[in-house]
Formats: sequence, structure tokens, C-alpha cells
Amino acid sequence: MSKKNAIFRAGDAPARAGYPGLDRFRLAAALLVAAIHTSPLLSLDGTADFLLTRVAARVAVPFFLMTSGFFLLPGLPARGGFTSRQRQALGRFFRRTALLWGTALALYLPLNLYGGKFANAAADPGAAARYLLLEGGFYHLWYLPAALLGMALCLGLLRLGRAPALGAAAALYLIGVFGDSWWGAAVQLPPLRAFYDGLLGFFGETRNGLFFAPLFLLLGGWLAGRRLPPRRVAAAGLALSLGGMTAEALALRQLELQRRDTMYLLLPAVMFFLFSLLARRRGAGRPGFRRLSMLVYLLHPLVIVAVRGLARPLGLWWLLVDCSPVHYLTVVCGSLLLAAALLLLWDKLFPRGGGGRARPVPPGNEALPASPARAPGPRQARRLWAEISLSAVQENAAALQALLPQGCRLMAVVKADAYGHGDLEVCRALAPAGVDAFAVATADEAVRLRLQGIPGELLVLGVTPACRAGELAALDIAQTAADPDHARALSAAAAAAGTVLRVHLAVDTGMHRLGTAADDPSAVEELLRLPHLQAAGIYTHLCVPESEEPEDLAFTKGQIARFYRLLEALQRDGLAPPPAHLLSSEGILRWQGLPCAFARAGLALYGVPSAPGEQLPAGVTLRPALALRTRVALVRTIAPGESAGYGRAFTAARPTRLAVLPAGYTDGVPRSLSCGRGQVLIGGRAAPVAGRICMDQMTVDVTDLPPVSPGDTVTLIGADGDACLPAQEVAAAAGTIPNELLSRLGARVERVYLP
Ligand SMILES: *Cc1c(COP(=O)(O)O)cnc(C)c1O
Repeated sequence: MSKKNAIFRAGDAPARAGYPGLDRFRLAAALLVAAIHTSPLLSLDGTADFLLTRVAARVAVPFFLMTSGFFLLPGLPARGGFTSRQRQALGRFFRRTALLWGTALALYLPLNLYGGKFANAAADPGAAARYLLLEGGFYHLWYLPAALLGMALCLGLLRLGRAPALGAAAALYLIGVFGDSWWGAAVQLPPLRAFYDGLLGFFGETRNGLFFAPLFLLLGGWLAGRRLPPRRVAAAGLALSLGGMTAEALALRQLELQRRDTMYLLLPAVMFFLFSLLARRRGAGRPGFRRLSMLVYLLHPLVIVAVRGLARPLGLWWLLVDCSPVHYLTVVCGSLLLAAALLLLWDKLFPRGGGGRARPVPPGNEALPASPARAPGPRQARRLWAEISLSAVQENAAALQALLPQGCRLMAVVKADAYGHGDLEVCRALAPAGVDAFAVATADEAVRLRLQGIPGELLVLGVTPACRAGELAALDIAQTAADPDHARALSAAAAAAGTVLRVHLAVDTGMHRLGTAADDPSAVEELLRLPHLQAAGIYTHLCVPESEEPEDLAFTKGQIARFYRLLEALQRDGLAPPPAHLLSSEGILRWQGLPCAFARAGLALYGVPSAPGEQLPAGVTLRPALALRTRVALVRTIAPGESAGYGRAFTAARPTRLAVLPAGYTDGVPRSLSCGRGQVLIGGRAAPVAGRICMDQMTVDVTDLPPVSPGDTVTLIGADGDACLPAQEVAAAAGTIPNELLSRLGARVERVYLP
């Protein structure tokens, strides 16, 4: 396990890191809440202000609720389905929200007393309690008890199952809507009128933890468990639903049906698309925005009071209060300044980690997928799974594309099921990133991808029997012409099939695996002229591009020189050389600037360097796309002197707690990691492999870890909290390379795609 390789190290607070879109929008949402309370456009135009504060700004609080649901109820775990870490996170949420509420109440107590809110508390204790518990004690604090009550309700509802919980929350929301903006419609019916009179007599309003909060909390959790809609779909959905909600609000206002204007029928749809759009953005998190937004949210009413208090004696009421845009800007700037000052002070008083907040995660440092808690779907049922972040693959592709010379196209190497990441999913994720060339090892891989609809250049890197030439040509797949005999056989087979096969001619510059000799231009020219082959490329492969040993450097330079000498010879002989390529991942990273038409990236595309401790070129960051996880099946204690596993290879030297994991060498966990050579992470802590890894199971020593229970998530490759087991380090411990480790992940490993 390493913390030294900064580029691949996990950031902390992983569950919340890595969502810059969500972090940024938090601040926007806090500013929208401030807008609701100051009506910035009121002095300009009443309808414009209505649209801003009573329609658009209504996304703010649901957004906060959805964020809590997204991180705390990922995938909506059903009855008893929460892991111990998730339970801890929920406990923290309840404690922190309660603490925040208590602090805010204390902060606003003087204002409440001054405002006479509790003047007749003794006479009507019920009203005072309701005011505190449902309305939060001050007009915007209602959110805090609502979040607590809503979350408690959601946990109760989830015991019934996912669908019943969502259904119940939707029903509650519907009841709420007709007690809020659609109230005038509901009370047309006498029984409903009686119902709502009673309801509202008790609750005052329906926007609270009971009717309003549960749906958005569950919606957030549900979104965390599924693939988010594509950006374009989400954007179109947002535009449509927001337009619809605006029409809904204007119509209700026109018809004077509104009792309040906080709950709309279309608000959940707006939130679904808005949140999907924001959560799609992955990258370095912005914890600063998180802290700032919470403070702005809590403090802006205080600033409103202060601005009003100061405006009158200063004789600036006409400007600072009556001119609503200025009023809003003054309040917002005041709140931001106050919040920033408090944060600075806080950081001075409690340097690093004070208050349990997250430290900022430097860009590129948040190895993803970093949080086991975010694994979507019916996770409790899952035995062993690989979490694959397609956005990491996209970002890596962009990082590599930036290193390529002008006119050079990235060819994504997706052989061996995209090194275990899923070839079809990777190809589909890369198409929108502008990648339209793919390489595989075998004809079968290429045929399958083509038949599944993958367009663009599709190159088979391995040797394919010539008899398949017609089939490949029919699917417009390019085949490597591996040597002169192979090329001639391909041409003959294509002729027999009455077609022309597109080939990339392999050139041997020193690797001596495939290729026609580079120093024999006439042989190459003869092949280029074969009648039933169309030369769509010419390429060579470097065999030590990663090495900086002087001897290896000289060898690589020799390979490069031989390749370009051949291309020049072809040119001299009047043959336009086909599109040329020679760089794989390490070549792209280390041998920049060589003119070529394609560059073939495999391992780097998946965010993995070939060896531990490897330095990437300045400014380049890659994000590992895959994490391999399982769950603790059993925990047992054995006494000193007792042994465990095959061959009795592990003997307890002390009372030892062993966790049994449902993963073995069939699944791709190398058996060479047995007996302490490998480790896993549980709750962010490393546990060594105890004894021999079996075909389907293994045991790890958790004696030194905090209590571990069955069901706890275990990370075999990837980040967990602060800790990380990068693929290249697991591979090194197993005596192999990450390419082998990843591509041998077994068929029983479920692939789970993160957006
Ligand atoms: C596998 C392969 C690649 C990709 O190599 P990486 O080091 O994973 O980028 C490129 N070219 C050829 C010929 C290959 O066989």
C-alpha cells in the first residue's frame, strides 16, 4: 500500500469528493435561498421576481435534500441492507444536522425573542413547539428539522422495500402539493377541504419533513444507484420540465389557486434532470464551496437584519433596501464576506481537519471510484464486483489526446474486454470523447464489437487465419498483416471471397514478435501492392518505451529510427506511406512529438501506470478507472497455535480474527498474493492475506483493524477512504504487471458502471 504516489492516491472524504458539479451548485443554491428571502427583482418587475424566487429558486432546498440522499442512501438499500460504514455515516448526519440546528437556534434566539415569537409560548406551548419543530425556529431553518424528520422517515420506509418507499414518498409529496401550490384546486371538494383544514390546522403548511423531504431524499439515493442519463438527455429533460414547471406556476398564480408556492407537481422531474446533470461532472471536488454554502445558508438572514438595521441610520434605506437588486447584492456580498471570514478564523483556530470537515482534494488526486459506499444496484446481493468509472476513462482519453501531435488520432486498445473494464462499455463511452479508432486482439472481439454497433476504425492486432478475410472485409474490420506470408494469404483469401480487405501492415523494428522486417523496404512495397489488400495503416511496436536505462533508450531510438527510415524509403520509391503508428501508452507518455496518424493507448486509458512509483510527464494526471471490491462473508477468531487454510500455511501467533472473503484466484485474485504478500482494505485500513488464496475464497487477518462485520465492503484493488491499493502495486506484489492483473479479472466478477 502506498501513499507516496501522489497522482494515484485517493483523496479523503471520498464519498463526497469528486463531484465538482454538486459542490459548485451548493453555493448557487444557497444564493438562491438568499434570493427567496430578499426578492432581488421585486422593484423591477413582479413577474420576473416571481419567476426567479418562487419558481427557479425552488430547486435549492430539494437540491440539498437530494445531495444528502445521494451520499447517504446510495442505491436505496432495503431492509437491513446498510453496511456498518453507511450506518456510521447516517449517524454522523443526524448528529451534525441536530448540532447545526441547535447552533442556529441559539444564533437566532435573540431575534426570535425580539420578534415576540415566544411572547405567548406559555399560553400556547403547542404552537411554540410546532414553530420550533416544524418551522425550525426561524424562517429558513425549517430545512434542518425537515432533513432530520425526512431522513428518519425514509429509513423507516426503506424497510418496506425500495418501490414501496418511493411510492409512499411520492404519495406524501402529492398530499403536500395539494396543501401548497395546488391548494385552491383541492379545496373545491368538500371532503378534501375538511382534510386539508385539519392537516394545515395542525402543520401550518405541508412543506416540511413529512410531506416534502422524503421524496427528494429518496430520489437522490435512487440516482446514486443507477446510471445517470446522458448529458444531452438530461439537459433536454431539464429544459422541458423547467419550462413545464414555470407554466404550472404561472397558471396557478393566474388562477389564484396557490396557498404557498413551494411545491409543484413538476418539481421532482426538474430535480431529477438537474441533479443528473450536476452529478455527471466528475473530477476534483470543491470542498470549499461546501463549507461556504452552508455558512451562507445559515448566516444570510442575520445579514438581512444587519443591512436593514444599518440602512436606516445611514439614510440609505432607499438604496440598500428599497432598491431590491442592490439589497440582494448587499446581503449576498455581506454573507459571503462574513462566511469567508469565519472560515479563515476557523482554519486558524483549528488547523487541518478541525471540525471534521474534509480537506481539499488536489485535482487529479481523488482516485475513483473511491467510495465503496457508492456502488449502485442491489449491492447487498453482490459477491464480488468491479466498479468502473467510465468518466475516468473519458478523462484519461482526453489527457492522452492532449499529448498527441497535430493530426494524430487516439486508437483505444480495448482488447481482452478492455483490460477487464468491458470493451463495449468503454467503446461507447469513448465515442462522445471523440475517439473513433479501436484496437482488439482477435477477430472475434472485433466482430462482436462491430455487430454491437461500434463504428469507426476497428483493428485486429493479432494474427487471424486468412480464411476469415471475407468475413472481416464484410464488416469493414482492419486486420494486421503480420508478415509477408500472412499478408499474401490474406490477399488470396480476400480475392477468393471477391473482396478487398483493409490491413495495417505490421513492421518489425526489433521486437521480433510480428511484422515484416523494417530494413527490407522492397518486401514491404511488394505487400503494399497486393491487389486484394488495401493498406489502411502501417505500424510497429516498441518493446521498452518505458525504460530510461541508457541501453534501452538507445534500443527504442533505434526502433523509431528504423521505422521512419522505412517510411522515407517508401516515399522515395513513390509510394505514399499508409497512416503510420508506433506508440502505445508508455510511448505516448514518454516519446512525444513523433509524427504519426494513430497512437494506440491501452493501460494508460484505464488510468494505470505500468509500474509502481512511475513518474508521469509534468501536467499529466490519469485516474484509475477500476476498483475491485467484495464483502466480508464471515468473521471468526482462532486461538494461538491454530492454523487456517490449505497447507496450514497460516498459523496464528496470537488470538486472531480472520475475515473470510468470497473471492479467489478464479476471480483473478492472483494466488501469488497468498500468505501476507497481498493486502486488502476494509474501512480504509489494510488487512494482510492470511494463508493461501483458494479458488473461490480467501482469508485476511483483521485482528489489528477496528471491528469488522459480515457485509462490510472490502477493496482488493483501488481506493478506500484515505488508503489505496493501486493496480500497479497489487500487480507488483503478485509478481506481475497491471495489464495481466486487470485483464484476468474473472467472469464471475460483476461489472458495475459508475457514470
Ligand atoms: C496491447 C497493445 C497496445 C496497448 O499497449 P498499452 O501498453 O496497454 O498501451 C498497443 N499496441 C499493441 C500492438 C498491443 O498489442
